Amino acid sequence: MGSAEGTTGGGARPRLTALPDLGQKIVRLIEANGPLSIADYMAACLYDPDGGYYMTREPFGVSGDFTTAPEISQMFGELTAIWLFSTWHTLGAPSPLTLAEIGPGRGTMMKDMLRTLDRIDPGFAGKARIAMVETSPRLTEIQRATLGESADAIEWHRSIATLPPGPLLAVGNELFDALPIRQYVRKGQRWHERAVGLDTGGNLAFVAAAGTLDPALLPPDAASADEGAIVETAPARTALMEAVSQRIAQDGGAALFIDYGYAQPALGDSLQALFRHAYADPLAEPGKADLTAHVDFFALAQAAKGCGLDAHLMTQGAFLLGAGLLERAGQLGAKADAATRRRLQDEVDRLAASDGMGTLFKVLAVTPRGLLLPPFSAAD
Ligand code: SAH
Repeated sequence: MGSAEGTTGGGARPRLTALPDLGQKIVRLIEANGPLSIADYMAACLYDPDGGYYMTREPFGVSGDFTTAPEISQMFGELTAIWLFSTWHTLGAPSPLTLAEIGPGRGTMMKDMLRTLDRIDPGFAGKARIAMVETSPRLTEIQRATLGESADAIEWHRSIATLPPGPLLAVGNELFDALPIRQYVRKGQRWHERAVGLDTGGNLAFVAAAGTLDPALLPPDAASADEGAIVETAPARTALMEAVSQRIAQDGGAALFIDYGYAQPALGDSLQALFRHAYADPLAEPGKADLTAHVDFFALAQAAKGCGLDAHLMTQGAFLLGAGLLERAGQLGAKADAATRRRLQDEVDRLAASDGMGTLFKVLAVTPRGLLLPPFSAAD
């Protein structure tokens, strides 16, 4: 008997539609248990082992749904590596050190960082343990493939809890926006948890659930908010930030997180779905579109400060320009042809200009108290 693999029209191969559909699974869950919090809905859409977006899809790049900074330009990982290296020196070059990237996607940034670190200090590899922290087995395989031979010297972890003890330099790009948020909607004097339930036709719909929000967690402008206004909290993000910060407070090190979001507490619904580089309805096709929300950097900074650390925030544009983006582009372009120079200019614009990622995206540095790490200044 021949295998059905590779044959056409035999009908022996399972059809994709025969796989459990995440939308059906979510509807059944709501029928059985009632509406799902936005956090549980996001967690299912992104991380369900069978149908979750990060577990089943290739999210990044031109053929995917969105493009991240390391996928736009090698310069992003290069400048991040230089920042991490000079931070390590400012910390007194402790060794052994763990350099960990959390949520590495395709592994492109780590590839660019390792190449750069090897150039600045060929002995660096001997002084640091390189770790990738990734929850998706599928993306872990893609990261291994991207890193090629360097993968042999890298350890993979599912959580930061298992990272080796000692000083830690951690970095994460577009990690926090992929962690679940909760939403609350104003009804009279109360803020009720917003949830995903079913409408009369059995379709997914936003509903107000019974749970309410502790008023102490509301932003300052909440009292004057309109009926139906929405506010977001993100306990999963705070928990991760606290875990990283506690680790740094105890063992030394620093962390750098880059993401899109806002610097001050604010009202508003920022839940969004991206499908093939266009916005989509977050309830339309669970698991098939990326689902994210803006990051509340104020809350993340508070979490780090609560662990006894300093937190510094800059826009991505100011950070990259301060870290030498134009100089690096000039260096790469010096011996290149005109088309390459145009591409480099385009990359600089996308990463650093205000109508690109320069202002919406922000960089948060988390450091031991009193450490000044350019391009952040004491006032940041
Ligand atoms: N940093 C990459 C990918 C961003 S997408 C880039 O810039 O291209 C978010 C990544 O975080 C994915 O790899 C996702 O699987 C991973 N992730 C999500 N939650 C995580 C967690 N709690 N710990 C580690 N990785 C996580």
